Amino acid sequence: MPELPEVETIRRALSAEFLGRELRKLTVKERVHLLKNCGARRLRERLLGRSLETIGRRAKYLLFGFGSETLVLHLRMSGRLLLAPAGHTRLVLEFAPAKKLYFDDTRRFGALYLQPTAELDRLVPLARLGLEPFRPEYTLKGFKGLLGSGQEIKRLLLDQHKLAGLGNIYACEVLYLAGIHPQRPAKSLAPAEARRLYLAIPKVLQAAINAGGSSIDSYRHPDGALGGFQNEFKVYGQAGRPCMACGTLIERIVQGGRSSFYCPSCQPRGL
Ligand SMILES: [Zn+2]
Repeated sequence: MPELPEVETIRRALSAEFLGRELRKLTVKERVHLLKNCGARRLRERLLGRSLETIGRRAKYLLFGFGSETLVLHLRMSGRLLLAPAGHTRLVLEFAPAKKLYFDDTRRFGALYLQPTAELDRLVPLARLGLEPFRPEYTLKGFKGLLGSGQEIKRLLLDQHKLAGLGNIYACEVLYLAGIHPQRPAKSLAPAEARRLYLAIPKVLQAAINAGGSSIDSYRHPDGALGGFQNEFKVYGQAGRPCMACGTLIERIVQGGRSSFYCPSCQPRGL
């Protein structure tokens, strides 16, 4: 699933290609699953003839700003935004002068919303998002405020209502960098550990953005290129290989149905 760094990489690539262009045609090829709060006709009524003024991002949501209306898109499991059609086109946006953007989604979990720009924060999935790295409200105090429960720290990091934008890959990498075992109860973290984790989150995300995201499944840049951060994983997918820091073999466990990878020496279980 694309996580925050992949969505940010896509946002930057699309900004370079489409900003300032007028939307001329909009073709919905799959409306049942994709369109969450509007029909294809309303999309065309509200958006055709308008220029794409901004492409923003909130956690893993892309925000296409057409003046007073914003298209909100979540790629979910397999959604891709491409400059050329692939096998599972669900939506086509045609801009002037001639340039097309294809939303391709094999598994059909992608979600599209139309929302008045002035009321963007009130759109339900956005309104429910938790603390987001890189935004001003991401403070050490705010972060520590999330750690009061006995929930396993890895699962807390994946809860989008608490912390927005981290998925399984980066949660594993962040916990490794901070030296924290994924099964530690959140409230057991010492102040120094909470601070290390707070700092590790934007650090890992920024490194991944700089590398153009991680291509481990369907994720591609809009022009088809691969991301590069999968070559820099320290623990994710590395079970059985030696830790780069200490040589101990990386282990894999399952938490909430998701794989967690960690170094048993650098990320001790007990304190
Ligand atoms: Zn280690």
